[in-house]
Amino acid sequence: METKIEDFKSQLRGELILPKDSNYDESRKVYNGMISKYPAMIAKCVDVADVMLAVNFGRENNILVAVRGGGHNGGGLGICDNGLVIDLSGIKFVHVDTKKKTVRVGGGNVWGEVDHATHPFGLAVPAGIISTTGVGGLTLGGGVGHLTRKYGLTIDNLLEADMVLADGTFVKASADENSDLFWAIRGGGGNFGIVTSFLFQAHNVKMVIGGPSLWPVEQTEEIMEWYHQFIHDAPEDLNGFVATMIIPGPPFPEFLHNKQFCGIVWCYVGDPDKADEIFKPVRDMNPIFEHIGEMPYPSVQTLFDAMMPPGMQWYWRADFFNDIRPELRAQHLKFGSKIPTPLSQMHMYPLTGAACRVGKEETAWAYRDAKYAGVIVGVDPDPANADKITQWCKDYWEALHPYSAGGAYLNFIMDEGQERVKACYKHNYDRLVKIKSKYDPNNFFRVNQNIKPNV
Ligand SMILES: Cc1cc2nc3c(=O)[nH]c(=O)nc-3n(C[C@H](O)[C@H](O)[C@H](O)COP(=O)(O)OP(=O)(O)OC[C@H]3O[C@@H](n4cnc5c(N)ncnc54)[C@H](O)[C@@H]3O)c2cc1C
Repeated sequence: METKIEDFKSQLRGELILPKDSNYDESRKVYNGMISKYPAMIAKCVDVADVMLAVNFGRENNILVAVRGGGHNGGGLGICDNGLVIDLSGIKFVHVDTKKKTVRVGGGNVWGEVDHATHPFGLAVPAGIISTTGVGGLTLGGGVGHLTRKYGLTIDNLLEADMVLADGTFVKASADENSDLFWAIRGGGGNFGIVTSFLFQAHNVKMVIGGPSLWPVEQTEEIMEWYHQFIHDAPEDLNGFVATMIIPGPPFPEFLHNKQFCGIVWCYVGDPDKADEIFKPVRDMNPIFEHIGEMPYPSVQTLFDAMMPPGMQWYWRADFFNDIRPELRAQHLKFGSKIPTPLSQMHMYPLTGAACRVGKEETAWAYRDAKYAGVIVGVDPDPANADKITQWCKDYWEALHPYSAGGAYLNFIMDEGQERVKACYKHNYDRLVKIKSKYDPNNFFRVNQNIKPNV
């Protein structure tokens, strides 16, 4: 085996990192500090040829393979014990076509790099709310963020993908080529192959008006009841996710520190002259604090980066919801009032507008009729608090789940077993199994929210 590894190393243009190497420990770290895995080797690929080589090496030698994009997956799906990690962080490029308003992005880019490249042209691709998240994992799972109501999920803006399949071949997936594969990767995660390049539709977004508004946690039920109706009726130019949270410290004023709140984080991309009118109902609800103002789009995309650096303990649970009925509001008040650590929080992202105009069977994302993607996340820098944050998440989730739509956004869950994966794909699961059986019959790509092939 040693000779084979030496051969593999000599053929890679990128680096092959082994346990004896000085950069091994740094290279095996993922975003979630709760996850510590020890792969046998990490192939830092720099081009498509490297990815093909790594896939062939893994398959021919029957080695477990994990694929790493941005390394942000909560359950640590970008790494594995004893196997080969195909690390895409060396495959980064962002090419903006200003005429077509499209953007070609490498399989290993993170979203901040995309925003940086598109912003000077007044363009943006809908993505998530933290700029260090990987394009790969976020896109393949769906992609929810500040532009969801206006321009849909990230997958709704995916035009094509270049992929290396389990047999080492290189293909394109688009509406015209391998259309079954293209359907499956829009929500089906990393089950079908490694995406080395994504082509996205971008939109005219340059400056936005956004920021948080906060109410004391005691008003949670009242605010959520109002918010549910307000966001439903609001123009699609306005997005706002509702949260229960603690304000941990600066840049917020001192009178808010370490207190619990019901908050909404807004992002408005419409006519600035109409902003006062749009936000009037929010101000009429008398928030205790509000900081809504004009900013470049990349600023709203990085608002929470400093609060959420890599390496912290991280545990999350999620579900889709069709409403925020009184029973749910009561539980949000209860658990929002006993948030265990300053960075732990609950978010409900609205899925209305453009995201729900795509049909339930048009992509692998099944819950097109759900109104919210909810997520409860326990976060803390201290490993001693791991049990505490985990238990709070589990208890909060248990209390909400009976009123949920059944499944969850798969990018917001840990490893929760096969039944849960099936519930999240609902009516689309059988079709995904068929496509998985065609493109990856031996389940080579299985370090993911796994869709098992029918063999
Ligand atoms: C702080 C934080 C904030 C987040 N905010 C949001 C948000 O606002 N909106 C949202 O929708 N999600 C959000 N997420 C969830 C995020 O979408 C998932 O964690 C996602 O899995 C991260 O992708 P990644 O490439 O960074 O992860 P990784 O851990 O590298 O990979 C995750 C999975 O995707 C696969 N994968 C990654 N890249 C590729 C590729 N190029 N080809 C094939 N398979 C690949 C991996 O094999 C693995 O199974 C957030 C996560 C964190 C930690």
